[in-house]
Amino acid sequence: MGLLEGKNALIFGLANDKSIAWGITQAFHREGANLGISYAGEMLERRVRPLAEKVGCEWVEECDVSKDDQITAVAEKAAQHFGKIDVLVHSIAFAGRDELSKPYYQTSREGFRNALDISVYSFVALTNAFHSILNPGASVMCLTYYGSVKVAPHYNVMGVAKAALESSTRYLAYDLGPEKIRVNAISAGPIRTLAAAGVGGFRDMYKHFADMSPLRENITIDDVGNAAVFLASNMSSRITGEVLYVDSGFNTMGVQLGAKEEKSE
Ligand code: NAP
Repeated sequence: MGLLEGKNALIFGLANDKSIAWGITQAFHREGANLGISYAGEMLERRVRPLAEKVGCEWVEECDVSKDDQITAVAEKAAQHFGKIDVLVHSIAFAGRDELSKPYYQTSREGFRNALDISVYSFVALTNAFHSILNPGASVMCLTYYGSVKVAPHYNVMGVAKAALESSTRYLAYDLGPEKIRVNAISAGPIRTLAAAGVGGFRDMYKHFADMSPLRENITIDDVGNAAVFLASNMSSRITGEVLYVDSGFNTMGVQLGAKEEKSE
């Protein structure tokens, strides 16, 4: 029997088969979850529907999380279709190209507002909208990155947004704890996705990541999917407010030795 058998799981942020949300969707499917998928806009529907079919998902709904009315509508549709929800995944982020390439101090007010609105506030808003249909023991989660705690060149306002997202995770965990609803974040190492392609210098960083991390391996969307299964399942029933790193151990390094230095010893 799968770890998520009998659980209704909604995943927000599927864009294509490279998305972290797709790794999570497939892992949830393998573990027997009853799935619902939400995507950002009409443009994506063409790519998302065939993926949803692959995992037998019938509930596929559009939701632009920068719009309160769309969030309210999607929560109502979920309530009609599923009744109650056990797992809610937020795998959404956005920052403008300028914000991810120019120096951080040149961030515009509008760019800052947009990044924080879509990448952070939406997590709070979704949690609020779904609160009344979350089962006791439900698991809510979001995706973050190490650029929240240390400088990752070019990550800029997104690093600031991820810091706010991780902090939101803790405050939401506190609020919902008495109802036995858990809220956690997965901090994933770099993965080649649409969102990552927008970050200046990502390719170089990705290339060297494996050399610099203890496990000497890049991570995949399947690795994140498996960690998400753990957080979604009853196996993690006393874990809340946490940031779980799925990054081959990269975040534990204080001094980074590249592959070259190691060979010359
Ligand atoms: P992705 O496939 O591009 O997923 C990002 C998703 O956010 C897309 O589906 C995107 O839709 C959606 N989105 C953007 N604006 C939205 C809005 N207003 N309403 C609803 N959805 C919106 O990239 P990903 O790498 O899998 O990103 C998923 C999450 O993982 C993000 O939180 C990201 O920061 C995080 N993460 C990624 C990495 C990495 O290296 N890839 C590492 C750590 C954490 P559109 O395509 O239509 O904009």
